[in-house]
Formats: sequence, C-alpha cells, structure tokens
Amino acid sequence: MDQTSAFCVKDWICLHTADNPTEIGYVRGLLEAEGIPTRARSMDLWAAAVEIYFAEGARPSVWVRASDRERAAAVLAGADRRGCAADWTCAGCGEHLEGQFTTCWRCARPRPDHD
Ligand SMILES: [Zn+2]
Repeated sequence: MDQTSAFCVKDWICLHTADNPTEIGYVRGLLEAEGIPTRARSMDLWAAAVEIYFAEGARPSVWVRASDRERAAAVLAGADRRGCAADWTCAGCGEHLEGQFTTCWRCARPRPDHD
C-alpha cells in the first residue's frame, strides 16, 4: 500500500530517530504489527528502502500519523520495558517483582505483558 502520492507531512510526526537501519526496521515492525502505519524519513525524501537513505548519509527516522502518536509511543514503551526486563507489580496480589521473573512467586500469576 503506497500512499506517497497522497501524502501530507503535516499529519505526521517524527516518533523515533535511529542510529542504524536495523533499529528502523525493528521499530516499524513493532508498530505495523499493531496496525499503525509508519513512514521512514530522511532529509526531504521518503523512501521505503533503508539502504537508499543510508547511502545518502542521513539519519533515518520513523514517522507516524499524529492521531496514532500516543498508541505508537505506548507500543515502543512496552517494547523497551520487555527489552530491559523492568520491575513489575503483580496484578493479583500486588507483590513487587524484579524484571527477570515472568511469574509471581507469591500467587503464580504471570506477568501481564509476558507471552
Ligand atoms: Zn502475585
């Protein structure tokens, strides 16, 4: 689905700036898995292929529709939490648990965001 011809940048906001193509792909994958459309941007060009704007030496960024901003930010925040295994609180008994635990040791309830 290519919407480039009908694209209006004013409706989109820069959500995330990345240092490498892998990160851009990762972020876009997370967002699009949640049904949030994304664009990758570099300079004044919009490109689907990461290699293109990296060849130009620009810093890539991921953009989303302004209306999707809060949801997209929540998706990224959730991914960050999983990535660094932050502490969590059990919804069943209120026990405070460290990030490496995926199940409450007290009541055996699983961590809410654990698949
Ligand atoms: Zn518990």
